[in-house]
Amino acid sequence: MKKTKRFHVFETNKRSIAKAIGFRIVEVLVDMGIGMVLLGLNAIMALEYSILVEIACFSLYYIWERIWVKIDYGRHVHEHGKPCEECKEETNRSCH
Ligand SMILES: [Zn+2]
Repeated sequence: MKKTKRFHVFETNKRSIAKAIGFRIVEVLVDMGIGMVLLGLNAIMALEYSILVEIACFSLYYIWERIWVKIDYGRHVHEHGKPCEECKEETNRSCH
């Protein structure tokens, strides 16, 4: 039997922005730690290193996303919310 969702929990933009900024701060601190402990950098150099790594990763991820826009692997089109043939088969299989 197919489960129907009774509740929808929405993420507000504010929450998503808070999560994104929070994660960036954690990443910068971790990269700084790596810079100081493994590379022996002082705090200022470690911060610079961390910011450079962040910019590089952010740019690389943007390029990665743009490449994946052109790749259809794992992508389905569900017209009017109806599952496609592939998803119907999966749902049937999981019932047995
Ligand atoms: Zn599908």
